[in-house]
Amino acid sequence: MYKGIGGSAGYGVGKAVIISNELPVYEPRQITDTEAEISRFTDAVEQFVEKTMAMADKMKASVGEHNAEILEGHVMMISDPFMQDEIKGKINQGDCAEKAVDETCDMFIAMFSQTEDELTMQRATDIGDIRVRLLKILTGTADVNISEVPAGTILVAKDLTPSMTAGIVKENVAGILTEVGGKTSHSAILARALEIPAVLSVENVVSLVQDGMEIAVDGCEGIAVLNPDAATVQEYEAKKKQYLEEKEALKVFAGKETVTADGQKVALYGNIGNPEDAAKVTECDGEGIGLFRTEFLFMGSSQLPTEEEQFEAYKKAAVAMDGREVIIRTLDVGGDKEIPYLGLEKEENPFLGYRAVRFCLQREDVYRPQLRALLRASAFGDVKIMVPLVTSVEEIRSVKAMVEELKKELDSENISYNKDIQVGVMIETPAASEIADLLAKEADFFSIGTNDLTQYTMAVDRGNAKVAYLYSAYHPAVLRSMKRIIGAANEAGIMVGMCGEAAADPLLTPLLVSFGLNEYSVSATSILATRATISKWSKAEADQVADKALSMATEAEVAQYLKESRK
Ligand code: PEP
Ligand code: MG
Repeated sequence: MYKGIGGSAGYGVGKAVIISNELPVYEPRQITDTEAEISRFTDAVEQFVEKTMAMADKMKASVGEHNAEILEGHVMMISDPFMQDEIKGKINQGDCAEKAVDETCDMFIAMFSQTEDELTMQRATDIGDIRVRLLKILTGTADVNISEVPAGTILVAKDLTPSMTAGIVKENVAGILTEVGGKTSHSAILARALEIPAVLSVENVVSLVQDGMEIAVDGCEGIAVLNPDAATVQEYEAKKKQYLEEKEALKVFAGKETVTADGQKVALYGNIGNPEDAAKVTECDGEGIGLFRTEFLFMGSSQLPTEEEQFEAYKKAAVAMDGREVIIRTLDVGGDKEIPYLGLEKEENPFLGYRAVRFCLQREDVYRPQLRALLRASAFGDVKIMVPLVTSVEEIRSVKAMVEELKKELDSENISYNKDIQVGVMIETPAASEIADLLAKEADFFSIGTNDLTQYTMAVDRGNAKVAYLYSAYHPAVLRSMKRIIGAANEAGIMVGMCGEAAADPLLTPLLVSFGLNEYSVSATSILATRATISKWSKAEADQVADKALSMATEAEVAQYLKESRK
Protein backbone atom coordinates (compact mmCIF):
# COMPACT_ATOMS: atom_id res chain seq x y z
CA MET A 1 0.00 0.00 0.00
CA TYR A 2 1.37 3.40 -0.95
CA LYS A 3 0.29 6.72 0.51
CA GLY A 4 0.11 9.82 -1.63
CA ILE A 5 -2.17 12.81 -1.91
CA GLY A 6 -5.84 12.39 -2.78
CA GLY A 7 -6.05 14.65 -5.83
CA SER A 8 -9.52 13.66 -7.00
CA ALA A 9 -12.05 11.74 -4.93
CA GLY A 10 -13.40 8.30 -5.80
CA TYR A 11 -12.27 4.69 -6.08
CA GLY A 12 -10.98 2.74 -9.04
CA VAL A 13 -9.47 -0.66 -9.81
CA GLY A 14 -7.82 -1.41 -13.13
CA LYS A 15 -4.72 -2.30 -15.12
CA ALA A 16 -1.73 0.03 -15.30
CA VAL A 17 -0.77 1.80 -18.47
CA ILE A 18 2.47 3.68 -17.93
CA ILE A 19 2.58 6.97 -19.75
CA SER A 20 6.10 8.05 -20.36
CA ASN A 21 6.85 11.65 -20.98
CA GLU A 22 10.57 11.14 -21.53
CA LEU A 23 12.56 13.75 -23.40
CA PRO A 24 13.35 12.56 -26.92
CA VAL A 25 17.06 11.97 -27.49
CA TYR A 26 18.85 14.29 -29.94
CA GLU A 27 22.41 14.79 -31.08
CA PRO A 28 23.57 18.36 -30.34
CA ARG A 29 24.94 19.84 -33.56
CA GLN A 30 26.95 22.96 -34.37
CA ILE A 31 24.99 25.13 -36.81
CA THR A 32 26.46 27.36 -39.50
CA ASP A 33 23.27 28.29 -41.38
CA THR A 34 21.62 29.93 -38.39
CA GLU A 35 18.84 31.48 -40.47
CA ALA A 36 17.69 28.08 -41.73
CA GLU A 37 17.82 26.71 -38.17
CA ILE A 38 15.75 29.61 -36.83
CA SER A 39 13.19 28.95 -39.53
CA ARG A 40 13.18 25.22 -38.55
CA PHE A 41 12.50 26.34 -34.97
CA THR A 42 9.75 28.75 -36.07
CA ASP A 43 8.10 25.99 -38.12
CA ALA A 44 8.18 23.70 -35.08
CA VAL A 45 6.57 26.41 -32.94
CA GLU A 46 3.87 26.85 -35.57
CA GLN A 47 3.14 23.13 -35.51
CA PHE A 48 3.19 23.20 -31.71
CA VAL A 49 0.67 26.04 -31.61
CA GLU A 50 -1.57 24.31 -34.14
CA LYS A 51 -1.53 20.98 -32.27
CA THR A 52 -2.01 22.64 -28.90
CA MET A 53 -4.96 24.73 -30.00
CA ALA A 54 -6.56 21.61 -31.51
CA MET A 55 -6.09 19.84 -28.15
CA ALA A 56 -7.51 22.86 -26.32
CA ASP A 57 -10.62 22.76 -28.51
CA LYS A 58 -11.05 19.08 -27.74
CA MET A 59 -10.66 19.80 -24.06
CA LYS A 60 -13.21 22.60 -24.11
CA ALA A 61 -15.73 20.02 -25.21
CA SER A 62 -14.67 17.38 -22.67
CA VAL A 63 -13.81 19.27 -19.47
CA GLY A 64 -14.71 22.88 -20.11
CA GLU A 65 -13.26 26.23 -20.96
CA HIS A 66 -11.06 26.83 -17.95
CA ASN A 67 -9.08 23.62 -18.25
CA ALA A 68 -8.52 24.28 -21.93
CA GLU A 69 -7.01 27.59 -20.89
CA ILE A 70 -4.11 25.70 -19.33
CA LEU A 71 -3.17 24.58 -22.84
CA GLU A 72 -3.81 28.01 -24.30
CA GLY A 73 -1.38 29.20 -21.62
CA HIS A 74 1.26 26.94 -23.18
CA VAL A 75 0.80 28.72 -26.47
CA MET A 76 1.27 32.04 -24.70
CA MET A 77 4.40 30.80 -22.93
CA ILE A 78 6.07 29.58 -26.12
CA SER A 79 5.09 32.79 -27.92
CA ASP A 80 6.54 34.92 -25.12
CA PRO A 81 9.14 37.27 -26.70
CA PHE A 82 11.58 36.71 -23.83
CA MET A 83 11.54 32.96 -24.32
CA GLN A 84 11.69 33.26 -28.12
CA ASP A 85 14.64 35.66 -27.95
CA GLU A 86 16.51 33.35 -25.59
CA ILE A 87 16.09 30.40 -27.97
CA LYS A 88 16.90 32.36 -31.12
CA GLY A 89 19.92 33.92 -29.40
CA LYS A 90 21.33 30.46 -28.71
CA ILE A 91 20.72 29.38 -32.32
CA ASN A 92 22.49 32.52 -33.53
CA GLN A 93 25.47 31.44 -31.46
CA GLY A 94 25.56 28.12 -33.34
CA ASP A 95 23.37 25.81 -31.22
CA CYS A 96 20.94 23.53 -33.00
CA ALA A 97 17.24 24.24 -32.35
CA GLU A 98 16.87 21.17 -30.08
CA LYS A 99 19.71 22.26 -27.80
CA ALA A 100 18.53 25.87 -27.76
CA VAL A 101 15.00 24.82 -26.76
CA ASP A 102 16.25 22.27 -24.23
CA GLU A 103 18.61 24.68 -22.46
CA THR A 104 16.22 27.61 -22.46
CA CYS A 105 13.47 25.46 -20.95
CA ASP A 106 15.98 24.19 -18.39
CA MET A 107 16.67 27.77 -17.35
CA PHE A 108 12.96 28.57 -16.94
CA ILE A 109 12.30 25.32 -15.08
CA ALA A 110 15.14 26.09 -12.65
CA MET A 111 13.75 29.59 -12.16
CA PHE A 112 10.20 28.46 -11.47
CA SER A 113 11.31 25.55 -9.28
CA GLN A 114 13.11 27.78 -6.79
CA THR A 115 9.97 28.28 -4.79
CA GLU A 116 7.84 26.42 -2.32
CA ASP A 117 4.75 27.78 -3.97
CA GLU A 118 2.77 25.11 -5.73
CA LEU A 119 1.38 27.39 -8.42
CA THR A 120 4.75 28.79 -9.44
CA MET A 121 6.17 25.28 -9.42
CA GLN A 122 3.30 24.33 -11.68
CA ARG A 123 4.72 26.64 -14.30
CA ALA A 124 7.90 24.56 -14.22
CA THR A 125 5.76 21.52 -15.08
CA ASP A 126 4.15 23.53 -17.90
CA ILE A 127 7.55 24.44 -19.34
CA GLY A 128 8.62 20.78 -19.01
CA ASP A 129 5.53 19.78 -20.99
CA ILE A 130 6.25 22.38 -23.66
CA ARG A 131 9.86 21.20 -23.93
CA VAL A 132 8.96 17.54 -24.48
CA ARG A 133 6.37 18.34 -27.13
CA LEU A 134 8.54 20.86 -28.96
CA LEU A 135 11.50 18.46 -28.97
CA LYS A 136 9.24 15.69 -30.25
CA ILE A 137 8.25 17.90 -33.16
CA LEU A 138 11.87 18.89 -33.87
CA THR A 139 13.14 15.28 -33.70
CA GLY A 140 10.08 13.76 -35.42
CA THR A 141 9.26 11.53 -32.40
CA ALA A 142 5.73 10.08 -32.21
CA ASP A 143 3.39 11.37 -29.43
CA VAL A 144 1.74 9.25 -26.68
CA ASN A 145 -1.86 8.52 -27.47
CA ILE A 146 -3.84 8.37 -24.27
CA SER A 147 -7.12 8.38 -26.16
CA GLU A 148 -6.54 4.77 -27.17
CA VAL A 149 -6.09 3.13 -23.76
CA PRO A 150 -8.55 0.29 -23.10
CA ALA A 151 -11.44 0.45 -20.61
CA GLY A 152 -10.41 -0.10 -16.98
CA THR A 153 -7.04 1.64 -17.31
CA ILE A 154 -5.13 3.15 -14.42
CA LEU A 155 -2.87 5.79 -15.94
CA VAL A 156 0.53 5.86 -14.25
CA ALA A 157 2.91 8.71 -14.98
CA LYS A 158 5.57 10.84 -13.36
CA ASP A 159 3.23 13.77 -13.83
CA LEU A 160 0.16 13.96 -15.96
CA THR A 161 0.54 17.09 -18.02
CA PRO A 162 -2.41 18.98 -19.52
CA SER A 163 -1.39 17.99 -23.05
CA MET A 164 -1.41 14.33 -22.05
CA THR A 165 -4.73 14.65 -20.29
CA ALA A 166 -6.39 16.31 -23.28
CA GLY A 167 -6.95 12.99 -24.98
CA ILE A 168 -8.40 11.11 -22.01
CA VAL A 169 -11.61 9.24 -22.71
CA LYS A 170 -13.05 9.37 -19.22
CA GLU A 171 -15.06 6.15 -19.54
CA ASN A 172 -11.84 4.19 -20.13
CA VAL A 173 -9.77 5.58 -17.28
CA ALA A 174 -10.51 4.07 -13.87
CA GLY A 175 -7.85 6.01 -12.03
CA ILE A 176 -4.72 8.14 -12.17
CA LEU A 177 -1.51 7.61 -10.24
CA THR A 178 1.43 10.01 -10.37
CA GLU A 179 4.77 10.71 -8.69
CA VAL A 180 4.37 14.46 -8.41
CA GLY A 181 1.61 17.02 -7.98
CA GLY A 182 -0.54 18.33 -5.15
CA LYS A 183 -4.20 19.20 -4.70
CA THR A 184 -3.91 22.31 -6.84
CA SER A 185 -1.67 20.88 -9.58
CA HIS A 186 -3.05 20.71 -13.08
CA SER A 187 -3.24 16.94 -12.95
CA ALA A 188 -5.48 17.20 -9.88
CA ILE A 189 -7.64 19.96 -11.34
CA LEU A 190 -8.13 18.01 -14.55
CA ALA A 191 -8.76 14.71 -12.79
CA ARG A 192 -11.45 16.40 -10.69
CA ALA A 193 -13.00 18.00 -13.77
CA LEU A 194 -13.12 14.57 -15.42
CA GLU A 195 -14.29 12.96 -12.16
CA ILE A 196 -11.52 10.36 -12.32
CA PRO A 197 -10.11 9.21 -8.95
CA ALA A 198 -6.48 10.28 -8.62
CA VAL A 199 -3.67 9.63 -6.19
CA LEU A 200 -0.72 11.98 -6.60
CA SER A 201 2.77 12.32 -5.18
CA VAL A 202 3.50 8.63 -4.63
CA GLU A 203 7.28 8.48 -4.57
CA ASN A 204 8.94 6.50 -7.41
CA VAL A 205 5.65 4.94 -8.39
CA VAL A 206 6.53 4.70 -12.09
CA SER A 207 9.47 2.40 -11.32
CA LEU A 208 7.33 0.32 -8.91
CA VAL A 209 4.66 -0.39 -11.51
CA GLN A 210 4.78 -2.54 -14.66
CA ASP A 211 2.42 -2.17 -17.58
CA GLY A 212 -0.64 -4.36 -17.07
CA MET A 213 -0.19 -4.60 -13.26
CA GLU A 214 -3.46 -4.48 -11.35
CA ILE A 215 -3.84 -1.37 -9.18
CA ALA A 216 -6.51 -0.09 -6.80
CA VAL A 217 -6.68 3.66 -6.12
CA ASP A 218 -8.47 5.51 -3.37
CA GLY A 219 -8.58 9.17 -4.37
CA CYS A 220 -10.39 10.13 -1.15
CA GLU A 221 -7.61 9.06 1.21
CA GLY A 222 -4.77 9.20 -1.34
CA ILE A 223 -3.94 5.49 -1.25
CA ALA A 224 -2.75 3.16 -4.01
CA VAL A 225 -2.51 -0.61 -3.70
CA LEU A 226 -0.31 -2.42 -6.24
CA ASN A 227 -1.25 -6.02 -7.05
CA PRO A 228 -4.22 -5.99 -4.63
CA ASP A 229 -5.49 -9.37 -3.42
CA ALA A 230 -9.05 -10.47 -4.16
CA ALA A 231 -10.37 -9.17 -0.83
CA THR A 232 -8.91 -5.69 -1.45
CA VAL A 233 -10.35 -5.58 -4.96
CA GLN A 234 -13.73 -6.49 -3.52
CA GLU A 235 -13.39 -3.86 -0.81
CA TYR A 236 -12.52 -1.16 -3.37
CA GLU A 237 -15.36 -2.19 -5.66
CA ALA A 238 -17.77 -1.92 -2.71
CA LYS A 239 -16.39 1.49 -1.70
CA LYS A 240 -16.69 2.68 -5.30
CA LYS A 241 -20.33 1.55 -5.45
CA GLN A 242 -21.12 3.32 -2.18
CA TYR A 243 -19.25 6.45 -3.22
CA LEU A 244 -21.16 6.68 -6.50
CA GLU A 245 -24.47 5.99 -4.79
CA GLU A 246 -23.83 8.73 -2.24
CA LYS A 247 -22.84 11.12 -4.99
CA GLU A 248 -26.03 10.31 -6.86
CA ALA A 249 -28.09 10.73 -3.68
CA LEU A 250 -26.71 14.25 -3.20
CA LYS A 251 -28.40 15.32 -6.41
CA VAL A 252 -31.70 15.65 -4.53
CA PHE A 253 -30.14 18.66 -2.80
CA ALA A 254 -29.57 20.49 -6.10
CA GLY A 255 -31.81 23.51 -6.54
CA LYS A 256 -32.77 23.50 -2.85
CA GLU A 257 -32.13 26.15 -0.23
CA THR A 258 -29.51 25.46 2.40
CA VAL A 259 -31.39 25.03 5.69
CA THR A 260 -30.73 23.31 8.99
CA ALA A 261 -33.05 20.54 10.18
CA ASP A 262 -35.08 23.12 12.11
CA GLY A 263 -35.43 25.47 9.17
CA GLN A 264 -32.64 28.00 9.81
CA LYS A 265 -31.47 29.30 6.43
CA VAL A 266 -27.74 29.76 5.82
CA ALA A 267 -25.78 30.76 2.72
CA LEU A 268 -23.69 28.18 0.87
CA TYR A 269 -21.07 29.65 -1.46
CA GLY A 270 -18.11 28.48 -3.51
CA ASN A 271 -14.41 29.35 -3.42
CA ILE A 272 -12.78 30.29 -6.72
CA GLY A 273 -9.32 31.19 -8.01
CA ASN A 274 -10.29 32.76 -11.31
CA PRO A 275 -13.45 34.17 -12.89
CA GLU A 276 -14.03 31.09 -15.06
CA ASP A 277 -14.49 28.94 -11.93
CA ALA A 278 -17.65 30.92 -11.15
CA ALA A 279 -19.44 28.82 -13.77
CA LYS A 280 -18.42 25.65 -11.95
CA VAL A 281 -19.84 27.09 -8.70
CA THR A 282 -23.21 27.80 -10.30
CA GLU A 283 -23.15 24.38 -12.00
CA CYS A 284 -22.65 22.82 -8.57
CA ASP A 285 -25.50 24.93 -7.21
CA GLY A 286 -23.47 27.40 -5.18
CA GLU A 287 -25.46 30.42 -4.04
CA GLY A 288 -22.63 32.91 -4.40
CA ILE A 289 -18.86 33.26 -4.20
CA GLY A 290 -17.50 33.39 -0.64
CA LEU A 291 -13.84 33.68 -1.60
CA PHE A 292 -12.24 34.74 -4.87
CA ARG A 293 -8.50 34.29 -4.31
CA THR A 294 -7.18 37.07 -6.57
CA GLU A 295 -3.53 36.13 -6.23
CA PHE A 296 -3.96 33.53 -8.97
CA LEU A 297 -4.53 36.42 -11.35
CA PHE A 298 -1.22 37.91 -10.27
CA MET A 299 0.63 34.59 -10.35
CA GLY A 300 -0.66 33.64 -13.77
CA SER A 301 0.99 36.65 -15.33
CA SER A 302 4.63 37.69 -15.81
CA GLN A 303 3.92 41.25 -14.75
CA LEU A 304 1.51 43.15 -12.54
CA PRO A 305 -1.99 42.82 -14.03
CA THR A 306 -3.28 46.28 -14.92
CA GLU A 307 -6.38 47.86 -13.37
CA GLU A 308 -8.18 47.20 -16.65
CA GLU A 309 -7.23 43.51 -16.72
CA GLN A 310 -8.28 43.11 -13.10
CA PHE A 311 -11.53 44.97 -13.70
CA GLU A 312 -12.38 42.62 -16.57
CA ALA A 313 -11.67 39.56 -14.38
CA TYR A 314 -13.71 40.78 -11.39
CA LYS A 315 -16.53 41.95 -13.66
CA LYS A 316 -16.59 38.55 -15.35
CA ALA A 317 -17.10 36.82 -11.99
CA ALA A 318 -19.77 39.37 -10.96
CA VAL A 319 -21.65 38.97 -14.24
CA ALA A 320 -21.40 35.16 -14.10
CA MET A 321 -23.00 35.19 -10.64
CA ASP A 322 -25.83 37.32 -11.94
CA GLY A 323 -26.56 39.50 -8.91
CA ARG A 324 -25.57 36.94 -6.30
CA GLU A 325 -22.92 37.85 -3.77
CA VAL A 326 -19.27 37.74 -4.92
CA ILE A 327 -16.71 38.23 -2.15
CA ILE A 328 -13.36 39.12 -3.65
CA ARG A 329 -10.28 38.95 -1.47
CA THR A 330 -7.58 41.52 -2.13
CA LEU A 331 -4.06 40.36 -2.91
CA ASP A 332 -2.86 37.77 -0.40
CA VAL A 333 0.78 37.67 -1.46
CA GLY A 334 3.66 36.36 0.63
CA GLY A 335 3.85 33.39 2.99
CA ASP A 336 3.51 30.42 0.66
CA LYS A 337 2.28 32.58 -2.21
CA GLU A 338 5.18 33.99 -4.15
CA ILE A 339 4.92 36.41 -7.06
CA PRO A 340 8.41 36.82 -8.53
CA TYR A 341 7.97 40.20 -10.27
CA LEU A 342 6.87 41.96 -7.06
CA GLY A 343 10.49 41.75 -5.95
CA LEU A 344 9.80 40.64 -2.39
CA GLU A 345 12.92 39.94 -0.38
CA LYS A 346 13.50 36.48 1.03
CA GLU A 347 12.50 36.48 4.69
CA GLU A 348 13.44 34.31 7.65
CA ASN A 349 9.79 33.80 8.57
CA PRO A 350 7.70 34.49 5.48
CA PHE A 351 4.40 33.50 7.13
CA LEU A 352 5.03 36.10 9.82
CA GLY A 353 6.40 38.68 7.46
CA TYR A 354 5.67 41.24 4.82
CA ARG A 355 2.53 39.82 3.23
CA ALA A 356 -1.15 40.26 2.35
CA VAL A 357 -2.66 43.51 3.73
CA ARG A 358 0.69 44.49 5.26
CA PHE A 359 2.26 44.46 1.80
CA CYS A 360 -0.74 46.10 0.12
CA LEU A 361 -0.92 49.03 2.51
CA GLN A 362 2.73 49.83 1.86
CA ARG A 363 2.55 49.23 -1.87
CA GLU A 364 -0.23 51.57 -2.93
CA ASP A 365 1.00 51.26 -6.53
CA VAL A 366 -0.23 47.66 -6.35
CA TYR A 367 -3.23 48.11 -4.03
CA ARG A 368 -4.94 51.17 -5.50
CA PRO A 369 -5.40 49.70 -9.00
CA GLN A 370 -6.83 46.54 -7.41
CA LEU A 371 -9.28 48.45 -5.22
CA ARG A 372 -10.27 50.67 -8.16
CA ALA A 373 -10.85 47.58 -10.30
CA LEU A 374 -13.00 46.07 -7.52
CA LEU A 375 -15.02 49.24 -7.13
CA ARG A 376 -15.60 49.45 -10.88
CA ALA A 377 -16.64 45.78 -10.99
CA SER A 378 -19.16 46.45 -8.22
CA ALA A 379 -21.31 48.25 -10.81
CA PHE A 380 -21.90 44.86 -12.46
CA GLY A 381 -22.97 42.69 -9.53
CA ASP A 382 -22.97 42.25 -5.77
CA VAL A 383 -19.20 42.57 -5.32
CA LYS A 384 -17.77 42.76 -1.80
CA ILE A 385 -14.18 43.47 -0.82
CA MET A 386 -12.44 41.21 1.68
CA VAL A 387 -9.13 41.96 3.37
CA PRO A 388 -6.82 39.07 4.30
CA LEU A 389 -4.50 38.60 7.27
CA VAL A 390 -5.81 41.50 9.31
CA THR A 391 -4.29 41.79 12.79
CA SER A 392 -5.37 45.26 13.86
CA VAL A 393 -8.20 47.77 13.66
CA GLU A 394 -5.88 50.30 11.97
CA GLU A 395 -5.43 48.01 8.98
CA ILE A 396 -9.13 47.80 8.17
CA ARG A 397 -9.51 51.53 8.80
CA SER A 398 -6.67 52.26 6.37
CA VAL A 399 -8.18 50.04 3.68
CA LYS A 400 -11.57 51.66 4.15
CA ALA A 401 -10.02 55.14 3.97
CA MET A 402 -8.32 54.20 0.71
CA VAL A 403 -11.61 52.85 -0.66
CA GLU A 404 -13.32 56.15 0.24
CA GLU A 405 -10.59 58.17 -1.53
CA LEU A 406 -10.90 55.99 -4.61
CA LYS A 407 -14.69 56.41 -4.62
CA LYS A 408 -14.15 60.19 -4.85
CA GLU A 409 -11.65 59.66 -7.65
CA LEU A 410 -14.17 57.55 -9.57
CA ASP A 411 -16.91 60.13 -8.92
CA SER A 412 -14.75 62.83 -10.47
CA GLU A 413 -14.18 60.57 -13.49
CA ASN A 414 -17.89 59.77 -13.75
CA ILE A 415 -17.23 56.07 -13.40
CA SER A 416 -20.00 54.07 -11.73
CA TYR A 417 -19.61 51.73 -8.77
CA ASN A 418 -21.69 50.53 -5.83
CA LYS A 419 -21.57 53.38 -3.31
CA ASP A 420 -22.52 50.97 -0.50
CA ILE A 421 -19.88 48.40 -1.32
CA GLN A 422 -19.08 46.31 1.75
CA VAL A 423 -15.57 45.84 3.08
CA GLY A 424 -15.07 42.75 5.20
CA VAL A 425 -12.27 41.22 7.20
CA MET A 426 -10.84 37.74 6.97
CA ILE A 427 -10.31 36.45 10.45
CA GLU A 428 -7.29 34.21 10.21
CA THR A 429 -4.90 35.33 12.94
CA PRO A 430 -5.12 34.92 16.71
CA ALA A 431 -4.87 38.72 17.01
CA ALA A 432 -7.96 39.22 14.86
CA SER A 433 -9.78 36.52 16.79
CA GLU A 434 -8.93 38.13 20.14
CA ILE A 435 -10.19 41.53 18.98
CA ALA A 436 -13.11 40.17 16.96
CA ASP A 437 -15.49 42.39 18.96
CA LEU A 438 -13.48 45.49 18.03
CA LEU A 439 -13.10 44.48 14.39
CA ALA A 440 -16.83 43.77 14.18
CA LYS A 441 -17.45 47.48 14.77
CA GLU A 442 -15.35 48.39 11.73
CA ALA A 443 -15.99 45.57 9.28
CA ASP A 444 -19.14 44.99 7.23
CA PHE A 445 -18.67 41.23 7.50
CA PHE A 446 -16.26 38.52 8.65
CA SER A 447 -15.03 35.42 6.91
CA ILE A 448 -13.02 32.92 8.93
CA GLY A 449 -9.94 31.62 7.14
CA THR A 450 -9.47 28.43 9.10
CA ASN A 451 -6.47 27.30 7.04
CA ASP A 452 -4.43 30.17 8.41
CA LEU A 453 -6.31 30.51 11.69
CA THR A 454 -5.26 26.94 12.51
CA GLN A 455 -1.69 27.60 11.38
CA TYR A 456 -1.26 30.74 13.47
CA THR A 457 -3.25 29.59 16.49
CA MET A 458 -1.27 26.37 16.68
CA ALA A 459 2.03 28.03 15.66
CA VAL A 460 2.43 25.30 13.08
CA ASP A 461 3.48 25.83 9.46
CA ARG A 462 0.53 24.59 7.42
CA GLY A 463 2.87 23.05 4.82
CA ASN A 464 5.35 21.34 7.13
CA ALA A 465 4.78 17.57 7.17
CA LYS A 466 6.89 17.08 10.32
CA VAL A 467 4.48 19.05 12.47
CA ALA A 468 1.32 18.22 10.53
CA TYR A 469 0.02 16.20 13.49
CA LEU A 470 -0.48 19.53 15.30
CA TYR A 471 -2.33 21.12 12.42
CA SER A 472 -5.97 20.47 13.24
CA ALA A 473 -9.08 22.59 13.42
CA TYR A 474 -10.39 20.19 16.09
CA HIS A 475 -7.84 21.48 18.60
CA PRO A 476 -9.68 23.10 21.54
CA ALA A 477 -7.82 26.37 20.90
CA VAL A 478 -9.08 26.58 17.32
CA LEU A 479 -12.63 25.61 18.32
CA ARG A 480 -12.74 28.28 21.01
CA SER A 481 -11.39 30.81 18.55
CA MET A 482 -14.11 29.99 15.99
CA LYS A 483 -16.78 30.25 18.65
CA ARG A 484 -15.54 33.64 19.80
CA ILE A 485 -15.32 35.05 16.26
CA ILE A 486 -18.80 33.88 15.28
CA GLY A 487 -20.20 35.10 18.61
CA ALA A 488 -18.66 38.55 18.17
CA ALA A 489 -20.10 38.89 14.66
CA ASN A 490 -23.54 37.69 15.77
CA GLU A 491 -23.45 40.14 18.66
CA ALA A 492 -22.57 43.03 16.36
CA GLY A 493 -25.17 41.94 13.80
CA ILE A 494 -22.74 41.48 10.92
CA MET A 495 -22.61 38.50 8.57
CA VAL A 496 -20.01 35.87 9.44
CA GLY A 497 -18.83 33.26 6.98
CA MET A 498 -16.10 30.66 6.78
CA CYS A 499 -14.01 30.11 3.66
CA GLY A 500 -11.22 27.85 4.97
CA GLU A 501 -11.30 24.09 4.40
CA ALA A 502 -13.07 23.54 7.75
CA ALA A 503 -16.29 24.95 6.27
CA ALA A 504 -16.66 21.75 4.23
CA ASP A 505 -15.74 19.37 7.05
CA PRO A 506 -18.88 17.40 7.92
CA LEU A 507 -17.49 16.66 11.40
CA LEU A 508 -17.42 20.38 12.20
CA THR A 509 -20.85 21.21 10.79
CA PRO A 510 -22.74 20.75 14.10
CA LEU A 511 -20.31 23.11 15.82
CA LEU A 512 -20.68 25.76 13.11
CA VAL A 513 -24.48 25.44 13.23
CA SER A 514 -24.38 25.78 16.99
CA PHE A 515 -22.02 28.78 16.98
CA GLY A 516 -24.30 30.58 14.48
CA LEU A 517 -22.26 30.66 11.25
CA ASN A 518 -24.22 32.48 8.50
CA GLU A 519 -22.29 31.50 5.41
CA TYR A 520 -20.24 28.46 4.37
CA SER A 521 -17.85 28.86 1.44
CA VAL A 522 -16.43 25.60 0.09
CA SER A 523 -14.93 24.19 -3.10
CA ALA A 524 -17.51 23.72 -5.85
CA THR A 525 -17.41 19.94 -5.58
CA SER A 526 -18.23 20.07 -1.83
CA ILE A 527 -21.32 22.26 -2.18
CA LEU A 528 -24.02 19.61 -2.31
CA ALA A 529 -22.39 17.43 0.36
CA THR A 530 -22.19 20.44 2.70
CA ARG A 531 -25.84 21.30 2.05
CA ALA A 532 -26.78 17.69 2.84
CA THR A 533 -24.84 17.72 6.13
CA ILE A 534 -26.27 21.07 7.25
CA SER A 535 -29.80 19.76 6.58
CA LYS A 536 -29.27 16.99 9.13
CA TRP A 537 -28.59 19.22 12.14
CA SER A 538 -31.06 21.16 14.25
CA LYS A 539 -29.77 23.93 16.50
CA ALA A 540 -30.67 21.98 19.66
CA GLU A 541 -28.84 18.83 18.56
CA ALA A 542 -25.89 20.83 17.28
CA ASP A 543 -25.69 22.69 20.62
CA GLN A 544 -25.42 19.40 22.48
CA VAL A 545 -22.51 18.23 20.32
CA ALA A 546 -20.80 21.62 20.51
CA ASP A 547 -21.08 21.82 24.29
CA LYS A 548 -19.62 18.38 24.73
CA ALA A 549 -16.82 18.95 22.16
CA LEU A 550 -15.87 22.23 23.84
CA SER A 551 -15.65 20.54 27.21
CA MET A 552 -12.92 18.20 25.97
CA ALA A 553 -9.27 18.80 26.69
CA THR A 554 -7.48 17.31 23.72
CA GLU A 555 -7.68 17.36 19.94
CA ALA A 556 -7.75 13.56 19.86
CA GLU A 557 -10.79 13.37 22.13
CA VAL A 558 -12.62 16.00 20.09
CA ALA A 559 -11.77 14.27 16.80
CA GLN A 560 -12.96 10.91 18.11
CA TYR A 561 -16.15 12.39 19.53
CA LEU A 562 -16.98 14.32 16.34
CA LYS A 563 -16.46 11.15 14.29
CA GLU A 564 -18.87 9.28 16.55
CA SER A 565 -21.43 12.09 16.36
CA ARG A 566 -21.31 12.37 12.56
CA LYS A 567 -24.67 12.10 10.83
C1 PEP B 1 -7.58 30.45 4.90
O1 PEP B 1 -6.51 30.85 5.36
O2 PEP B 1 -8.38 29.73 5.51
C2 PEP B 1 -7.98 30.85 3.54
C3 PEP B 1 -9.20 30.59 3.08
O3 PEP B 1 -7.09 31.46 2.76
P1 PEP B 1 -5.83 30.76 2.05
O4 PEP B 1 -6.02 29.26 2.16
O5 PEP B 1 -5.85 31.27 0.65
O6 PEP B 1 -4.68 31.26 2.85
MG1 MG C 1 -5.42 32.49 4.45
